[in-house]
Amino acid sequence: MLYRNVSCIFLLGCSLLFISFVGGEKKTTNKIKTIVIDPGHGGKDSGTMGTKRYRIYEKHVALDVSLKLGAYISQSFPDIEVIYTRDSDFFLELNERTELANKVDADLFISIHCDGFTNPQPSGASVFVMGMSKLKENMDVAMRENSAMYLEDNYQQKYEGFDPKSKESYIVFSLMQNAYLNQSLNIAEKVEKEFSTRANRKSRGVKQAPFYVISRTNMPSILVECGFLTNPQEEDFLHSDIGQDYIASAIFRAFRSYKEEMEGNLFEKTKKEKINKKKDEEKIIEVSNKNISQINNVIYRVQIGTYLKSMINVPLFKEIGAFEENTQSIYKYYVGNTSDKNIVEKIRRDMKEKGFKDAFIVAFYKGKRISTKEALNLQKK
Ligand SMILES: [Zn+2]
Repeated sequence: MLYRNVSCIFLLGCSLLFISFVGGEKKTTNKIKTIVIDPGHGGKDSGTMGTKRYRIYEKHVALDVSLKLGAYISQSFPDIEVIYTRDSDFFLELNERTELANKVDADLFISIHCDGFTNPQPSGASVFVMGMSKLKENMDVAMRENSAMYLEDNYQQKYEGFDPKSKESYIVFSLMQNAYLNQSLNIAEKVEKEFSTRANRKSRGVKQAPFYVISRTNMPSILVECGFLTNPQEEDFLHSDIGQDYIASAIFRAFRSYKEEMEGNLFEKTKKEKINKKKDEEKIIEVSNKNISQINNVIYRVQIGTYLKSMINVPLFKEIGAFEENTQSIYKYYVGNTSDKNIVEKIRRDMKEKGFKDAFIVAFYKGKRISTKEALNLQKK
């Protein structure tokens, strides 16, 4: 019933405390001041237990790697505040982890985990960003990690009926929009590159899957699966001091280059923005001298989401008549196509009611994206 009826899905989506549409408020500065490092599991939640040749499990490796990573960051960047969701072996709920990161207004969230499988063959590290996945393999990892919820008291009430092992529970995830997807992908790709080129790890690539812990953070967030504890060789490596150093320093190097890029970008961005603004002003003057038919080329649309995978065949997207723009493996979805600002405002309200809480209006002029302010100015002329 639930998945046959789209409006029920909306109700479910709205009622789930769990689903909060991430993003909206983008940070105004790219300076990285605070980073939250989240060692997975802890206390009564051991995480993956590996081959059980050791009495050391995922929770221990995650903590050791996290503390090493934090130490590298603090040594190199004493101005950055490094906050751990846990710094010793205690149990922590999934929502406590995300709430902490949001409360301290972190600029980056890194969750550290280790993989496990039913046979000893799989090996290698993976880096995840939040999103839906059609691949069973990715869904299995997210379901396993989200199952930490089962160890929480009253998890059913707390997550309003969300069941980490039920596929239907994940339907609402497909409506989520992550305002920080591009930045999350940026650091994820850097970590992946460090793993494969410098840390000599078999890299399983950057993937997207609906992990609870990175779904509600209001900042760029990644989840790193450092390797498989169910693979004996990899387990030995992940338990060794040197192995943990390799992993932590690889993530650190990725962080350092991400930081440089973000903070460098800020300067470049301001410069570019100034140049673009000047160009736009010139354009407006130019346009104002042209005839009315060209001025009417301003088109408004409502942007409802950005995703890593095409959503065009998702029934809801079909129903609302969303159209897709695909550039550099990023899929953007729009609804509406009008030169009337009032109509587009109405569409935006509709989309918000339908659950796309971050939906916003975008404007185009002669096929190029412009600000809505510029669009209004163009229409006034
Ligand atoms: Zn884990």
